[in-house]
Amino acid sequence: MDFTRQYDLLVVGGGNAALCAAITARAANLSVLVVEAAPIHFRGGNSRHTRNMRTMHAGPLDPLTEAYPEEEYWQDLLKVTGGITDETLARLTIRNTEKHVPWMKQHGVRFQPALGGTLQLSRTNAFFLGGGKALMNAYYAVAESLGVQIAYEAEVVDITLEEHRFVSATIAHAGAQHTIRAKSLVAASGGFESNLAWLREAWGPPADNFLIRGTPYNMGRVLKLLLHAGVKAVGDPTQCHCVAIDARSPKFDGGIVTRVDAVSLGIVVNKHAQRFYDEGEDFWPKRYAIWGRLIAAQPDQIGYSIIDAKSMGKFMPPVYPPMVARSIPELATMLSLDPAALSATVAAFNAAVRRGTFDHTTLDDCRTEGLEPPKTHWARPLDTPPYYAYPLRPGITFTYLGVAIDAQARMLFDDATPSPNMFAAGEIMAGNVLGKGYLAGIGMAIGTTFGRIAGEGAARHVRP
Ligand SMILES: Cc1cc2nc3c(=O)[nH]c(=O)nc-3n(C[C@H](O)[C@H](O)[C@H](O)COP(=O)(O)OP(=O)(O)OC[C@H]3O[C@@H](n4cnc5c(N)ncnc54)[C@H](O)[C@@H]3O)c2cc1C
Repeated sequence: MDFTRQYDLLVVGGGNAALCAAITARAANLSVLVVEAAPIHFRGGNSRHTRNMRTMHAGPLDPLTEAYPEEEYWQDLLKVTGGITDETLARLTIRNTEKHVPWMKQHGVRFQPALGGTLQLSRTNAFFLGGGKALMNAYYAVAESLGVQIAYEAEVVDITLEEHRFVSATIAHAGAQHTIRAKSLVAASGGFESNLAWLREAWGPPADNFLIRGTPYNMGRVLKLLLHAGVKAVGDPTQCHCVAIDARSPKFDGGIVTRVDAVSLGIVVNKHAQRFYDEGEDFWPKRYAIWGRLIAAQPDQIGYSIIDAKSMGKFMPPVYPPMVARSIPELATMLSLDPAALSATVAAFNAAVRRGTFDHTTLDDCRTEGLEPPKTHWARPLDTPPYYAYPLRPGITFTYLGVAIDAQARMLFDDATPSPNMFAAGEIMAGNVLGKGYLAGIGMAIGTTFGRIAGEGAARHVRP
């Protein structure tokens, strides 16, 4: 690795957005250095945990069925963000996804039909064969074969700008610091979700009980440097993608298998054995992303998903086995909940259930009456032992505070001037599109779109 020469492009980060930018720029003949903070075995950031990309398509597009038009995608995004999104950048993301599938195939990504289970998304989401890990390995293989230089365990710790222009970055690598000069920069270094101190600053003490679903390397260091240097911020530091995951998961990198998908089939209680939200409000794929926040708002940020034998086998099982008991009081004791309080909650729930025709694939008529909060669908009495419980914690996926960009992925400064040679892609700018809420599979859509646009932009800047 030659850290003394000037590269055409320095890419910071080693996930999907970074590699899309690096491959695109290298294909346009730029000399490219990728600096990835993680060691080689943990390269690929949160991208290595992914399974799919939400993709617009006018007709069947292998592996996607039927059609998923731009307008429907846009309306889906509007619903989850409550309109807090930049329409130009959002529509750019949506439109580009259709072109990504063939580009991804060309660069070694393989697809598979959607798996069954609770997240049936075969029309809207293209699933990667082998998941994000295989996708990242394919991109690294292509990048290496094209001659992209890759430095692992190389963390950007400082950035030097002149006015609105990138000049150099300081990296910490193998016990030394190096100044890397480049004609352009793509910042693709993720959000700040791994930075526990920063999460605490945003959320206060509840953040201490958050688990981080992905990489420990997304510390937000580059994001902070850029914001301090006058790049305009977008998004709210407390907005993020946050789901309910098994409380026994590791602090970092538990990945997709720690998510608990049993919520809509039973009840969820807090540490006082009280229910606090309608578990059957809507289909699980449309609601799973609100449960992290709901648990975060409960005392000690802990919840318990409780189901009975009727629901076993009806959801994608998480990696941890459930706690099992023959009776509700016994289950309460296992969970260190007050047995009398949990028995009363279950009895009140069971008494409020109005029996209907249970169908987990429709918004069925099994609901409660006279109960607060209600359960509006899939409500069935918890009366068939054994009883099962999963303890839940907020599992943060990624944060939305980021840098503002324009449609060419150029970073915008506080005075709205675009930088001529500084681009951003992926989580670090996702807040432009995601003001709040989340649409399954849009993270990879944003990273792939702006990674490729950033790579093209760098190429245009270096070789006009
Ligand atoms: C468990 C899980 C499952 C997910 N599933 C999906 C899914 O199925 N579909 C979907 O669309 N999205 C999914 N997401 C979200 C998705 O992972 C992200 O939106 C996307 O991967 C972001 O890509 P990125 O390249 O911006 O960030 P990342 O892939 O996280 O890459 C950021 C990189 O920057 C590096 N880095 C950080 N700081 C520095 C520094 N100072 N110097 C050098 N390098 C640095 C990190 O090491 C890392 O390699 C999931 C996330 C998780 C955690």
